[in-house]
Amino acid sequence: MSPADRKRRIGERVDARRDALDRLALEIHARPELAFEERFAADALCAYLESEGAHPRRGIGGLETAFVAEAGSGEPVVAILGEYDALPGVGHACGHNLMGTAAVGAFLALRETLDGVRGRVRLLGCPAEERGNGKTYLIKAGVFGDVAAALMYHPGDRDEVDPLMLAMVNLDIEFAGKAAHAAAEPHEGVNALDGLLLGWNALSALRLTIRSDSRVHGIITDGGKAANIIPDHAAARLMVRSPDNAYLADLKRRVLACFEGAAQATGCELRAEWSEVCEVVTTNRPLAEAFTANAKSLGRTLHPRRAADTHGSTDMGNVTTIAPGIHPFLSITDVPIPGHSVAFAEAAKTPQALETMHIAAKALAMTAIDVLTDPGLAKRAKEAHNGHKA
Ligand SMILES: [Zn+2]
Repeated sequence: MSPADRKRRIGERVDARRDALDRLALEIHARPELAFEERFAADALCAYLESEGAHPRRGIGGLETAFVAEAGSGEPVVAILGEYDALPGVGHACGHNLMGTAAVGAFLALRETLDGVRGRVRLLGCPAEERGNGKTYLIKAGVFGDVAAALMYHPGDRDEVDPLMLAMVNLDIEFAGKAAHAAAEPHEGVNALDGLLLGWNALSALRLTIRSDSRVHGIITDGGKAANIIPDHAAARLMVRSPDNAYLADLKRRVLACFEGAAQATGCELRAEWSEVCEVVTTNRPLAEAFTANAKSLGRTLHPRRAADTHGSTDMGNVTTIAPGIHPFLSITDVPIPGHSVAFAEAAKTPQALETMHIAAKALAMTAIDVLTDPGLAKRAKEAHNGHKA
């Protein structure tokens, strides 16, 4: 079978499963689950794989809701990644219900297209993208060690091949003070909330002088228990982001200094804990060109990133650091809709979103076929990856 025949077959096999894939995406949309708790989604996707004769293995990387399935034999290995976690309060406002399902659709179509092809396709069910850097657990489990191409897509409001996804790190801040009656003996207390707010205000001043491509934002998670008690505890969660690793390191130092100074000024004790870094997405150009050509054949034109546009951060960045990878966006709407909004959650269950999901499944699977049947592409992808690292 020629690569063109295989791609035609992929289209047929995704189309044959449209109803089942749509049902899965809508069921997962209706049952949004937070990071590390995506039991319904993982069960539903794995049950469907089982019903099609694929046998996913659960719990990889020590994550209950992660799974892996493979098809084919030998090398190279192409990984197809899908996410399925949601956001607190706004459900599937990032459209991950469409991503896990598209990855499963791509994998099942590929299983029926690999006859006579050397190499494997590895489907990876990836929990906890919105919080917790789930893919870093999978990286530690070694599932990317032999991967020649790591492919995924993300729903968006614009077809974009090389989105800017910033490096990001979480900071958990706690101020410890001393409780006291806020009216009778305020002088006996040490106000943890005031300490935190002083640091927060210093941070607001800092934000006026940082690079426009970098971000610091957060929420206060504890501001005390009662208005008539001097708070002995206050806490915040912050996110610090930049496209530049060196600048991120410097920004971390400056952000922390805001709270260190405030702790000293108020006599509070400061506890600060940084998370692992979620790295910048490095789009692999040869793989991106292959995906763009396949999307084009399916009627979608992918655009390069626009200056000053950012899509936040993703643990896919860490994957693209160690393996050639892509993370393009495919639009599910005709009008601009901000991500992580109620409107985006609504858009993630429309017929247009489901149609885009079918296209994504096909384009991902077709790009996998390109890597598996064209040794030149795998070689160029590797060279581009090594060149970027150098
Ligand atoms: Zn997302």
